[in-house]
Amino acid sequence: MHDGKALQSGTSHNFGDGFAKAFEIQYTDKENKLQYVHQTSWGVTTRLIGAIIMVHGDDSGLKLPPRIAPTQIRIIPIRQQAEGVLDAARDLAAKLQAVNVDYAAGAAQDANRTHSLDLQPIRVKVDDSDKTPGWKFSECEMRGIPLRIEIGPKDLEAGKCVFVRRDTAEKIECSLEDAPAKAAELLVTIQSEMLERARTHRDAHTYEAKDYDEFVKTFNEKSGFVKAMWCGDQACEEKIKEELSVTSRCMPFNQETLADTCVCCGKPAQKMVYWGRAY
Ligand SMILES: [Zn+2]
Repeated sequence: MHDGKALQSGTSHNFGDGFAKAFEIQYTDKENKLQYVHQTSWGVTTRLIGAIIMVHGDDSGLKLPPRIAPTQIRIIPIRQQAEGVLDAARDLAAKLQAVNVDYAAGAAQDANRTHSLDLQPIRVKVDDSDKTPGWKFSECEMRGIPLRIEIGPKDLEAGKCVFVRRDTAEKIECSLEDAPAKAAELLVTIQSEMLERARTHRDAHTYEAKDYDEFVKTFNEKSGFVKAMWCGDQACEEKIKEELSVTSRCMPFNQETLADTCVCCGKPAQKMVYWGRAY
């Protein structure tokens, strides 16, 4: 997360045969003997929404990645009572709604697995309420809407509008003619840059420790993950948890050898583990 703490996001548990024994869930094996099933549990919960808020949000509120934002673009008319402004805003909204954004373009695609989040029509709304533009801008920010478009009488005269990115606050002028293509391009860019920013943040807050002194020092001085070797003995895990309130977070498939010995007890190491403080 943003503050360097870990969060168990989706759940993945290996139950082994614990529940099978409690509830007598059995099957007959090829030797015709009854065996207990082994179970795993995989789930995605509302906690993932919390993770999105904590990873991407800032002091102005939410920042939602375009792929999952309920509204991706809000058009805010400036001096909306002026002639033609609301009509132009609604006309632009209709044009944007007709655009399908391909978020997976350029990525390696598996023909058998087309994801419903890959190709999406733009979700756009016009804010024609009687609130002031400033109020509308703030609301847009708070709700984490990835893009807002400002359009007023002067813009109309010049045949343009102004995009404002929620993630970077960057303002981009664009002709009304090019606006649909520009909107699609910006949504794809915001999606990938938000992901990249979060990854960079995570990597910049991931450290390595070869011995216990270094391990303790890193956790005392920094927030984030620490990669360190582990012998496989639960006693070391428990000692680390008790002394530092740090738990093992992940044993990655892509293993690295940082040292030959366990960071805690000095016995031969079995695995490289990501450690961290968690919510
Ligand atoms: Zn150990």
